[in-house]
Amino acid sequence: MAAYADVIVDIRSGRTDRVFQYAVPESMKDRIRVGSPVLVPFGSGGRMVRGIVTGFKDTPDVDARRIKSIDHIEEGQPSVDEQLVRLADWISRSCGGSMAQALRTVMPVKKNVKARQEVHYLIKDKEKAQAYLEQIRGDRRMKGRVRLLDAMLHREDLSISSRTASSVLRIAPGTLKALEQQGLISRSSRRIMRNPDMPFLQGWNRVELNEEQAAAVHDILACGQECDRQWTTEKAVHLIHGITGSGKTEVYMALIEKVLQQGRQVIVLIPEISLTLQTVSRFYDRFGDSIAVMNSRLSAGERYDQYLRAQTGEARIMIGPRSALFTPFSNLGMIIIDEEHEPSYKSETTPRYLAGDAAIVRAKLAGALVVMGSATPSLTSYSRALAGQYTLHELHRRAKAGSALPQVEIVDLREELRAGSRSMFSRKLHEQLEGCLKRGEQAMLFINRRGYAGFVSCRSCGYVVKCSHCDVSMTDHKKGLLKCHYCGSTRPMPRICPQCGSPYIASFGIGTLKVEEQLHREFPQARVLRMDRDTTAQKGSGDRILQEFAGGQADILIGTQMIVKGHDFENVTLVGVIAADLSLFSGDYLSSERTFQLLTQAAGRAGRSSRPGRVVIQTYQPDNYCITAAAAQDYRAFYDKEIKFRKAMHYPPACHMLMITAQSSSQARAREAAEHAAVLAHKIEHASVLGPTGAAIIKVKDMYRYVLYVRHERRRVLAAFMKFMEQDAAGQSRAFYSFDIDPFSVL
Ligand code: ADP
Ligand code: ZN
Ligand code: ZN
Repeated sequence: MAAYADVIVDIRSGRTDRVFQYAVPESMKDRIRVGSPVLVPFGSGGRMVRGIVTGFKDTPDVDARRIKSIDHIEEGQPSVDEQLVRLADWISRSCGGSMAQALRTVMPVKKNVKARQEVHYLIKDKEKAQAYLEQIRGDRRMKGRVRLLDAMLHREDLSISSRTASSVLRIAPGTLKALEQQGLISRSSRRIMRNPDMPFLQGWNRVELNEEQAAAVHDILACGQECDRQWTTEKAVHLIHGITGSGKTEVYMALIEKVLQQGRQVIVLIPEISLTLQTVSRFYDRFGDSIAVMNSRLSAGERYDQYLRAQTGEARIMIGPRSALFTPFSNLGMIIIDEEHEPSYKSETTPRYLAGDAAIVRAKLAGALVVMGSATPSLTSYSRALAGQYTLHELHRRAKAGSALPQVEIVDLREELRAGSRSMFSRKLHEQLEGCLKRGEQAMLFINRRGYAGFVSCRSCGYVVKCSHCDVSMTDHKKGLLKCHYCGSTRPMPRICPQCGSPYIASFGIGTLKVEEQLHREFPQARVLRMDRDTTAQKGSGDRILQEFAGGQADILIGTQMIVKGHDFENVTLVGVIAADLSLFSGDYLSSERTFQLLTQAAGRAGRSSRPGRVVIQTYQPDNYCITAAAAQDYRAFYDKEIKFRKAMHYPPACHMLMITAQSSSQARAREAAEHAAVLAHKIEHASVLGPTGAAIIKVKDMYRYVLYVRHERRRVLAAFMKFMEQDAAGQSRAFYSFDIDPFSVL
C-alpha cells in the first residue's frame, strides 16, 4: 500500500479540489482505502479535523519532512460522503477522467445562495372559500378565480406561490388582488427552499395493481429483504420490461411507498425530456412535499436548495435526470431508472459514466436496490437480465381497462412514388388523418429531425452546402437561413449553386416545420401544434404545448423525439411516423436499436384509453427487421435478431469497445497522437484495434479529431489501458485525448 494519502477536509465546502497530503502510518496500511474517514491534524496549531481519503501516492508532493501523519481511521457505518467518494473513485477508474473531475461530478459545488423570498397566497377561511367557489363556478367571467381556488383548496397547506399561480395556472395579477381585497386570500412572503414551480394536485386516480404489477412489486421487495442480509447484483438489480402503457409508473410508486415506510429514501431517474409537469405531478399527487425535483432548468442556487432538502431529510424522494443519482441521501433504499434505454443516461462529457452502472455501484455501497424499467430495454441490460445478472420482470398487458396495443401498418414509400403520390403523407396516412379529425379525436405526427429541412444540395452537380468550421452539412433553418448544428453559425441560403451556377439548389429531407406547412395545405381546418427544439427553447414552453394538446386545444401534435416519451394522451388514436428511415443510417452500431426504440415508443402513444389506436409507419425499408418488429411491438423478435448482429460483428454488449479520440488544432498532430495510441493498443493481448481514422466529422470548432476503437472482451482491460493512456506524456504532448468505453454514438 502507498505511503501517502490525499485527504479532503471539510468535504461539504464544495472545494473538492483542495486536497492535502498525509503520511499513512505503517499500522494503518492494510485497513485504509479510498473513502475512509480519517482524523488529521490541520493548520499550524495541529487541530484535529475530519477528512476523507480520496487517493494514494508512493511519493510525496512536497518535502516529506513537512508532511503530517493521519491520526486515526474512524470506524462505523460508511457515511454518505464516504459512499460518494468511493463512487467517484469507481467513476474515475472505470469511466475515465481524474479523481478531481469525478468528485466534482458526484458533489455539486456549494453556491453562495442568497435566501430567496417568494410571495405566497394563503386561503384564509377554507369554508368561506369553498362556498364562494361553488357560487362562481360556471360563471365564464370568473374562470381564473375558479382555477385558482380549485388548485389552492386541493393543496394540503391551502397555499400557492405567486410564481406557480402566474406561470402554471396563468392567473392574472388582478385576479389575485381582487380575491385579496375580498378577504378570501392573504399574501405573505417567506424564504423558500421548496420546489420551484411545483405542480398543483390534479387528482390522479389511485389504481389497484393488476396481477403482473403486484407480482413485480412483491418479488422485488422480497429480494430486498434478502439483500439486507447479503447484497448481490442478481437480487438487488431488477429490470422491468413492460410494454408501453403496462403500468410501470404505478409499480414504481408502489415500491416507493414501501421503501419510505422502511424509513429509507428513493432516487427516481427520469430522462430530462420526460420530466414534464404531467409526469412530475403524478408523483407529486401521491407523495406531496416529500419530493424534491431537479432538472437542468434550475439555477445553481435552486439546485443546491434541492440538495439541502435531501440532506436535511425534508425531502425523501429525489426525481431528476442523470445527475440526481448523486443526491446525498443518508439511508438510500432504492434507485429507480425509468426508460433505462435512454441515451441521455450516458454522460456526454468526461467522466463518461452510464447512470445504470453507476447506480449499481452506489446501491451496493448503500445496500439499496436498483429498479430499471423500459418498454424497449437496452440490449446491454436485457442481455444481462437473460444471463441472470439482473432479475427480469415482464409486464405483457396494457394496464388500463379496455386499452389494447394499437394496430400498426407499414407504408412503402417507394410504392407511393410509383403510384404518383408526391405528398409527404401517404394515401393511407392522409385517409387515417381525415377519419381521425372527423371523429374529433387527436393525432400525433412524429419526425426524427429538427428545423425546417435537411441538407441543401444542387440537383445539377451534387454540391452540398457545408459549415466552413465543422465540415458538416448545414441545414435549412428558417426564412432563408442555413445553420450548422454543431457550432451554431449561420449563412444565407444560396439562390444559385456556388459551384456550377445552376438554379436547382434546394433543401432535402423533412423537418417539423415543413410537415406543419403541408398539414395546413391538406387539412386547413385542423388545429396544429408543433413541438421541437425551436418551439421549446423558452422555459416552460414545452409543458405549455403538452398541456394545450392534453386539454384538447389542438387536433394534431407534430414533433421530434420530444413527443414520443412517456406522455399519456387519452384522446390520441392515431400516430403517424413520417419517415422511419431518418435515424436508420446514422453510421453507428446503435442505429437499429435507436430506431426500434423510437418507433416502438412512438407507436405506444396511440390508443391509450378505450378507443382503438392506429399507427402508420412510412418507410423506404418496409422489410427491415427493426421496422417490422417495432410495428408488431415485439421486443423479443428485435432483440434476438439484433444480438446476433452484435455477436457476429463484435459490438457491445457482445464485446467492449473503447473509443479514443485525439484532438488538436493541428491535423498532423491529432493524427500522430491517434497513431501513437494505436501502436500501444496493438500490444494488448486479445484486443482488436479499428482505425485510427478521421472522425465522422473531422473538424469541430477548429479542432481536428482522429478516433480509434479498441475492442476486448473484458471491460477491465480496456479501463486499465485508458488509465495508462491518460498518463501517457508522449501522446499528450501531441494532442488531447478523450475516452469513452462502449460509446453511444460515433463522433
Ligand atoms: P407505463 O409507465 O408502463 O407506460 P403507466 O404507469 O403510465 O404505464 O400507466 C398507463 C396508464 O394505465 C395510466 O393512465 C395509468 O393510470 C393506468 N394504469 C396503470 N396501472 C393500472 C391498473 N392497475 N389499473 C388501471 N389503470 C392502470
Ligand atoms: Zn451545382
Ligand atoms: Zn459549424
